[in-house]
Amino acid sequence: MTRSEKPLFTAAQIRTRVAELAAALSRELRGQDVVSLIVLKGALHFGSDLVRAMTVPMAVDFVQARSYHGTVSTGKIEMLGRPTQDLNGKHVLIIEDILDTGVTARALIDFVEISGASRVSFCALFDKPARRKVPVHATHIGFPVDDVFIVGYGMDYEERYRELPDVYTLVL
Ligand code: 5GP
Ligand code: MG
Repeated sequence: MTRSEKPLFTAAQIRTRVAELAAALSRELRGQDVVSLIVLKGALHFGSDLVRAMTVPMAVDFVQARSYHGTVSTGKIEMLGRPTQDLNGKHVLIIEDILDTGVTARALIDFVEISGASRVSFCALFDKPARRKVPVHATHIGFPVDDVFIVGYGMDYEERYRELPDVYTLVL
């Protein structure tokens, strides 16, 4: 497995879209008690760029979830790390790299709701709607993508490619 030579999305395209998402989110979350929950590890760059482009005060926390082994979604998720912030009564913004089958998103939204959040927003930079198995209401999506496996800008294949600024497809 290796990555495509040409990016599917360049760092510049991502930067522009992140700024648009941040502007929309800042309008919607203004005046609310916000906790941004960055989903590790895939959303590390996206989360960092998004919260820095937003103009509302917030707490930033992390959650770590894993559903993939290689390129295969296992259908169940492991919570490897939980937020330290109390989410009770907060408007929680979940920040994900990519929405695929929806299993991870569903589990994260359920976790946040059970934790007592007053509202949940779900923002994913990429979305593969054709792959959905579980219905998920994503409030903000960066780019729809076809059914391809993508890497870079935080997203990995077996822990490789996370450091790349652009997004590539994985090729055999
Ligand atoms: P889901 O539970 O929706 O099937 O999977 C969501 C998670 O799987 C994402 O948070 C992401 O970590 C991983 N994932 C899904 N599609 C891709 C992809 O194309 N590339 C990479 N690197 N990870 C993916
Ligand atoms: Mg992820």
